[in-house]
Amino acid sequence: MQAVIENIIQETESVKRFYLKPQSEEGFRFLPGQFITLRIQDTERSYSIANPPDESGLIELCIVLNPDGKVTPLLWQMQPGEIVEISEALGSMVLPEIWDKDLCFICTGTGVAPFRSMIGHLLKQGELNQNIYLVFGNRYSADILYKAEFEAWSGENGRFQFIPVLSREEGPYRKGYVHAVYEELFADRRDAHFYVCGWEAMCKEARQRLKTMGYNRRQYTFEQYDG
Ligand SMILES: Cc1cc2nc3c(=O)[nH]c(=O)nc-3n(C[C@H](O)[C@H](O)[C@H](O)COP(=O)(O)OP(=O)(O)OC[C@H]3O[C@@H](n4cnc5c(N)ncnc54)[C@H](O)[C@@H]3O)c2cc1C
Repeated sequence: MQAVIENIIQETESVKRFYLKPQSEEGFRFLPGQFITLRIQDTERSYSIANPPDESGLIELCIVLNPDGKVTPLLWQMQPGEIVEISEALGSMVLPEIWDKDLCFICTGTGVAPFRSMIGHLLKQGELNQNIYLVFGNRYSADILYKAEFEAWSGENGRFQFIPVLSREEGPYRKGYVHAVYEELFADRRDAHFYVCGWEAMCKEARQRLKTMGYNRRQYTFEQYDG
């Protein structure tokens, strides 16, 4: 199906937000956490939908430029009003049908995109009965996508904890990598569901560490951006 690029926002030095309006009479249906594939010049790449479903009918993508890549440099030249080819919503990293345990979202960089959709959707439902943790790794504070929004959400809802982790910058945020954070938060090994999204190295390590902590395959879901 075709989609019109309605708007493009330069979010950080290397990340842009693209707002697409799918041209479908039935509307565009998706579940929080799903992704689409985008076809440009006969090449396809997948992108997570970063907004929760809403009345606007828009889908938002949050994309980091890979200067040596095939597709993102082409995307960087595109302007509002241009048309791209997209798939229907795909993917099985979605929210549980019954939500009866804490949810811990672990990501780096644009891996936060599907979690913004999922957490935004959960927070829209009103008072939460379980805790939500977003453990978000970046190099520098300037790289933290949707920072103001996540901080506002955690200020408004005591059950949502936003935990940025920076690998290359001292204070005010926690220094280091995401792994030590969820290991501490879940040191008691209580029942929980973990969602992990990002590039291969982080995903692989999280899978290994969650296993070592004693969590089983039904307790974590991964979306790996490469490999
Ligand atoms: C389900 C799914 C959802 C995705 N969602 C997003 C999303 O929401 N936002 C987003 O930015 N990307 C997302 N990606 C990655 C995206 O599909 C492309 O791989 C990415 O945009 C690079 O495309 P390219 O053609 O420019 O580079 P390619 O020509 O494909 O680049 C070659 C290789 O570079 C590596 N690479 C590229 N960028 C990085 C990076 N930042 N860090 C580490 N390695 C990298 C990868 O290993 C890749 O195979 C997703 C991937 C999948 C599978």
